[in-house]
Amino acid sequence: MQHYDVIVVGGGPAGMFAAWQASLRYSRVAILEKNTVLGKKMLITGGGRCNVTNIHQDDLLIAGIVGNGRFLHSVFSQFNNNDLIRFYETNGLKLKEENKGRMFPVTDKAQSVVDTIAKVLRQNGVTIHFNCDVQTVKTTEPLAVKTSLGMFSCDKLILTTGGKSVPQTGSTGVGYQLAAQFGHTTTELFPTEVPLTSDEGFIRKKVLQGLSLYDINFSVLNQKGKPLVTHRYDLLFTHFGVSGPAALRSSQFVVKQLKKQELVTVLLDVLPDQHITAVQAWLKGQDSNKALKNAWKGLVSERYLLFLLTEIGLDESTPLKQLTPKQIELMAQALKGFTFQVNGTQSLEKSFVTGGGIKLKEVDPKTMQSKFDPRLAFAGEILDIHAYTGGYNLTVAQCTGFVAGLHI
Ligand SMILES: Cc1cc2nc3c(=O)[nH]c(=O)nc-3n(C[C@H](O)[C@H](O)[C@H](O)COP(=O)(O)OP(=O)(O)OC[C@H]3O[C@@H](n4cnc5c(N)ncnc54)[C@H](O)[C@@H]3O)c2cc1C
Repeated sequence: MQHYDVIVVGGGPAGMFAAWQASLRYSRVAILEKNTVLGKKMLITGGGRCNVTNIHQDDLLIAGIVGNGRFLHSVFSQFNNNDLIRFYETNGLKLKEENKGRMFPVTDKAQSVVDTIAKVLRQNGVTIHFNCDVQTVKTTEPLAVKTSLGMFSCDKLILTTGGKSVPQTGSTGVGYQLAAQFGHTTTELFPTEVPLTSDEGFIRKKVLQGLSLYDINFSVLNQKGKPLVTHRYDLLFTHFGVSGPAALRSSQFVVKQLKKQELVTVLLDVLPDQHITAVQAWLKGQDSNKALKNAWKGLVSERYLLFLLTEIGLDESTPLKQLTPKQIELMAQALKGFTFQVNGTQSLEKSFVTGGGIKLKEVDPKTMQSKFDPRLAFAGEILDIHAYTGGYNLTVAQCTGFVAGLHI
């Protein structure tokens, strides 16, 4: 049986950072990874370019970590996104900023991010066992780890097995069971950063399938019709509902609201910078002899314009001058607040991020250590922390990994 000072279960971003830090104090550190490569999920983020972190500072960074970001104040006081950027640059990988503070490697290749961390792990003598599926852990002295490659033992263990989303990348949720062997409990898991499904006629008939709306306001409404949350991002209509960053960011609010009601209303404002009276005046002020389709051309994409006209019962060939003030008002309202209902989200397996995880009150926020057994620590998506895409989840994974490895 091979013995290690520290075993890290999972070679994702959290595990790699944990192993790096642990290797600065312990000579025998190993990562047990069931895949044949490190960072399989990290490699597919940012469309294969790896959205390695987000440059937003302090409160803005925490605000991007919508699921329990406040738990991370102590972690970020020890290692944060600025330190991450410094880590990569010191190790030869320059990062660049894109819109909304998202940081990518200048190489535009996720592989160069993983290669950079892997190089640091090699330099610090971390052993990596690939094809090593951890099945159970016995809380004996030392800890006994049963894997597909046989038994290992260790003095300390860091669980960084990720959530349950996109299980093809290796994160299948086994880590929750391993944690349970130490008495840890898990909150209810739910999909976040996931497309929304809808049974509306225009979705079923695929009227808008493939249409992207850019920089729009997308709101999730409560039962009283008031916005619970509004996101200004891009939206994509699909054959099952809506996707794109605006929908993904809204998904956790939809999930929560669907516990109270069967259908949730969402609202689309495609002219977020204009007041409704200005929109109405603009609609009214166009060439009154022209058909609506031409009179209102250019305001929004033609496909969406024609869709809204149909939705409010107007014929695109009607000349503007034949419209009543009420009809113009209706069109302005549709542009500023088209509503439709969503009935769910795609599955946890299809979601980018898993909401819920190991209960945070069972974990020390300063060290990421288990409050039940000092030989155990956690980092990354296995915890009950989730964030918007845009580099926030990867920041959580790497920074909690750093702190877990530092204190183990
Ligand atoms: C398509 C997609 C796009 C994303 N885009 C973004 C983005 O733009 N920005 C962002 O911040 N986040 C994004 N995310 C989320 C981000 O990738 C994750 O939050 C992050 O990878 C979590 O890191 P982790 O180390 O905690 O877990 P993971 O990256 O899931 O790593 C866990 C590792 O543990 C291994 N493992 C699990 N169980 C065992 C076991 N029993 N034995 C051995 N090994 C095991 C797995 O094989 C895996 O390698 C995206 C996710 C997806 C799926």
